[in-house]
Amino acid sequence: MSLTNETHGLWEKTAISAPLTARLQAHLQVDVAVIGGGITGLSAALHLAEKGAKVVVLEAQQFGYGGSGRNAGLVNPGMWVQPEVVCAELGEEAGERLLSVLGEAPSLVFDLISRHGIDCEAVRNGTLQCAVGRSGLHEIQQREEQWKRRGAPVRLLDAAETANRTGSTQFTGALLDERAGTIQPLSYVRGLARAAISKGASLFSESAVLDIKREFNCWKIRTETGTILADWVVASTNAYSDSLLSSLKREIIPLYYFQFATSPLPDEIRRHILTNREGLICTRSVVTSLRADAAGRLIFGSVGALRNIGSAVHRAYARRSLGRMFPMLRDVKFEAEWFGTIAATTNSLPRYHELDRQVISFHGYNGRGIGTGTVFGRIMANRILDPKQDMPLAATDPERPLFRGVRSGYYEAGSVLAHLF
Ligand SMILES: Cc1cc2nc3c(=O)[nH]c(=O)nc-3n(C[C@H](O)[C@H](O)[C@H](O)COP(=O)(O)OP(=O)(O)OC[C@H]3O[C@@H](n4cnc5c(N)ncnc54)[C@H](O)[C@@H]3O)c2cc1C
Repeated sequence: MSLTNETHGLWEKTAISAPLTARLQAHLQVDVAVIGGGITGLSAALHLAEKGAKVVVLEAQQFGYGGSGRNAGLVNPGMWVQPEVVCAELGEEAGERLLSVLGEAPSLVFDLISRHGIDCEAVRNGTLQCAVGRSGLHEIQQREEQWKRRGAPVRLLDAAETANRTGSTQFTGALLDERAGTIQPLSYVRGLARAAISKGASLFSESAVLDIKREFNCWKIRTETGTILADWVVASTNAYSDSLLSSLKREIIPLYYFQFATSPLPDEIRRHILTNREGLICTRSVVTSLRADAAGRLIFGSVGALRNIGSAVHRAYARRSLGRMFPMLRDVKFEAEWFGTIAATTNSLPRYHELDRQVISFHGYNGRGIGTGTVFGRIMANRILDPKQDMPLAATDPERPLFRGVRSGYYEAGSVLAHLF
């Protein structure tokens, strides 16, 4: 399936071109087969190929089809949940290890972008987590204190400086995290794909893996038109896992997120809104995001799926919210709209699985996947090349959350109600 305006919205329109890839039509023997061509799989492939491993990536659709080519492009460190929550869930030592790995993740993203010359509108001017009301202010104060204790470059801004930077007087303050930045996500994926190919990785699109079996001491991976024999398998299908990796599919709770992009705004308006092109997220329980692209469009996002009644409700909400934040945008029109699936987990933290002998997977990034996927891809590459590699998460068995479908439906319906009223 090609990427279209309907599936990938603005990103499909403004992305750099994809490297030429074709369907697997051969029988190959390799060291590592990567299933899933998003940020995680491509980062694993790039880092493996750089170290001389023979690697193939099999993508069911086109590279970037999943969350990687649809997201908001906010390259944030850490997770949505506060650092203390991570430590409470995993224990002090393991929690601190994960926080340290994910705190560094944006640096790896921007380093890869510069090292491989990826043209993806990269701007590293931080993210503003904007506080709504007193409770929002309390939340960002806690977050600041928790990150500062860990030496992170975060800073609280008062309401006046927040208004100055965002162009909106709606917020009671903001937490500026200078580790963060924004990218054009589909261009980043395509740049990673190009870099992996240049280092010797073989990439195949429209090559859904249909079957994986153990044969002659290695894994035999079958697509409709070819086969791969591999020593190792990296499963990086995340929220877009199909029935092939049913244990991964069952573990995550699908959470939908939509985005609306304006047309390029005139300079006299753009001059007042996110002039430094920071990313913006807010502290509302149904989170919203905002960012600008290189051409001066604003991209507004929040939780929800653009289908059924959701399309009209979320579109009206996006217009209302932008109008409230920036009165000069009251009648704004949208040039593109799209949505995608986020892989949520029961405790909002990612998972690492050793699904079988030499079959490994990270997934469940809960909407923080650009840095996380990039760094976890590299860690899987290192794990394959060196069995002594320290993993940032203990391997667990995939969970089967109760009422997974009901919970996903509840979030979808809840977002419609929240945005309606
Ligand atoms: C709308 C939206 C907004 C988001 N915003 C942000 C953000 O601003 N910042 C951030 O950090 N994160 C964000 N995220 C999360 C982030 O996009 C994801 O966590 C990340 O892209 C996951 O990357 P991945 O490579 O693990 O998986 P994906 O990019 O989802 O890739 C999985 C791939 O596997 C393929 N696949 C599935 N089954 C098979 C098979 N059998 N054979 C071969 N291929 C298969 C799929 O086609 C898909 O391309 C957002 C997500 C969404 C949906």
